[in-house]
Amino acid sequence: MHIHGIQCGPLDVNSYILWKEENNDCVVIDPAETDPILAFMKAKNLKCTDILLTHGHFDHIAGVAGLKEIFDACIHIHKNDAHMLYNSNANLSFLLGLQVRPVQADVLLEDGDEVNAGLTFKIIYTPGHTPGGICYLLDNEKAIFTGDTLFRLGVGRADFPNSNADDLYASIKVKLFGLPGDYTLYPGHMRTTTLDFERSHNPFVRSYRGK
Ligand SMILES: [Zn+2]
Ligand SMILES: [Zn+2]
Repeated sequence: MHIHGIQCGPLDVNSYILWKEENNDCVVIDPAETDPILAFMKAKNLKCTDILLTHGHFDHIAGVAGLKEIFDACIHIHKNDAHMLYNSNANLSFLLGLQVRPVQADVLLEDGDEVNAGLTFKIIYTPGHTPGGICYLLDNEKAIFTGDTLFRLGVGRADFPNSNADDLYASIKVKLFGLPGDYTLYPGHMRTTTLDFERSHNPFVRSYRGK
């Protein structure tokens, strides 16, 4: 299986393209911009069957409408963030005066759900950065796509109107750090890391004392 990250969009989001050797289908996680993702897919002769969103902030969803239009890909998001796909106040695009083309979700996810998109993803509900933040776990690859919940030596912002720092801390400390074993983490911004490294080094989680 291949995982290719493309940093794109106005806030340098890591968009991830995942595919297997046996066919040309691919999954795109958090398409932040259509064109660079499309260019890569064309070069590899891939077509997008599913779009998986870690949360609904504009910087992570700006490329969704373009991919949906071209491939009619199935859009997955947690039910609590689904309205952010078409509400510029909720997805914060209005803050930067940016236009994000509105779309509707096809599948609303909840904690513990599985997404079967050629690859099988397990949904871990990790609210805090947004009320509908989720991580996508790929067990076979020992990989987790953490969106803006957990970064290398950092965590997502919890100072937005709908953020909740206590929820974010619990999501990381209980739900992610509580997973058995080690995983490679593919975050929404900056470089990859591992669960073990963050368990022992993440300064925000280590020093958090609650609000
Ligand atoms: Zn975000
Ligand atoms: Zn982000």
